[in-house]
Amino acid sequence: MSELVIKNLHVAIEGKEIIKGLDLTIRQGEVHAIMGPNGTGKSTLAYTLMGHPAYEVTEGEVWFKGQNILELEPDERSRLGIFLAFQYPVAIPGVTVANFLRTAINARRRAENPEDKGIPIPEFRKLLKSKMELLKMDPAFAGRYLNDGFSGGEKKRAEILQMAMLQPEIAILDETDSGLDIDALRIVAEGVNALRSKDLGVLVITHYQRILNYITPDFVHIMLGGRIVESGDADLALHLEEHGYDWVREKYEAVS
Ligand code: ADP
Ligand code: MG
Ligand code: MG
Repeated sequence: MSELVIKNLHVAIEGKEIIKGLDLTIRQGEVHAIMGPNGTGKSTLAYTLMGHPAYEVTEGEVWFKGQNILELEPDERSRLGIFLAFQYPVAIPGVTVANFLRTAINARRRAENPEDKGIPIPEFRKLLKSKMELLKMDPAFAGRYLNDGFSGGEKKRAEILQMAMLQPEIAILDETDSGLDIDALRIVAEGVNALRSKDLGVLVITHYQRILNYITPDFVHIMLGGRIVESGDADLALHLEEHGYDWVREKYEAVS
């Protein structure tokens, strides 16, 4: 049983503190959602966990398997078993989704054993087929060129397939601006639902209040002013959907 433990995290951008002491533990088998008003630091949290260089950690730690992952490069975090969406956001001309996935799997194998010859093609094909079936994806998608003219939804599909293929223990998904793209959120939610298991812990960071139409998280956290101010179960998201964030702001206005 692995767990990701975020302890007293403080993050600044260009000298301005955005995350102001955030604590959160995600265990394998749990699905967590972080919700919160715009500008509260949700994407900052996601970028920090991904290791984006613009985000300066001024205090705190993020522990996984006995290591403070903030000291690791993004690919080292991945190798430990943490999947961070948007790790490979660029279009790669002439590279299909399948080739990209095989390269990603092989990079991880070689990081563990430099002598590794790569995943045998038949084994790769079998794995890809089973994951695409599980995710109810059209097999033709694997032959598309990565991110070449992909819609928001197709980018999400590639991301979820990548997550399924890499079989992480903890996955962190940031639904940046997904309020504008319900199709993308639906694809992510259906993917998470299909991959949900005792071996996978998920953190979904979302701007979209009606997330419960698509996914039932075990835990819902409200982020305000760079901290988690309320935690609960799926009922908390339901409450937010009905009442919005005003009550949260009133209750915690001293910190926001
Ligand atoms: P959320 O995802 O909750 O909407 P963000 O993490 O995107 O919030 O932003 C939190 C705060 O950090 C906002 O005040 C935003 O203006 C600021 N911010 C985010 N990214 C940057 C950046 N790259 N440079 C400067 N300020 C930023
Ligand atoms: Mg925002
Ligand atoms: Mg955001």
